[in-house]
Amino acid sequence: MSDTLGTRIARRARRDPVRALVRVFGRPLVCGDCGRVILRAIPVVWRGRVRLVGAREHNVRVMFATKEHLEFRHVELDRCPSPERPWVP
Ligand SMILES: [Zn+2]
Repeated sequence: MSDTLGTRIARRARRDPVRALVRVFGRPLVCGDCGRVILRAIPVVWRGRVRLVGAREHNVRVMFATKEHLEFRHVELDRCPSPERPWVP
């Protein structure tokens, strides 16, 4: 006997609604420097500030590239490979 998919999703959403939301509505945030996906989150712009829903334990630097376009970057540079950091795997 196993639960249906809907039951499992509903139970998960009750336990951790933010994560369930991010799984459905989130998008991968790609680092503007290295092109790697930093994390999955929902970027919300509110009162001129950017909130990344689902990014609790991650360090992401957010900048406005233009008025409507956001740019994300790794904060921890040892996760962000670039020609200046050849030691990063
Ligand atoms: Zn990076």
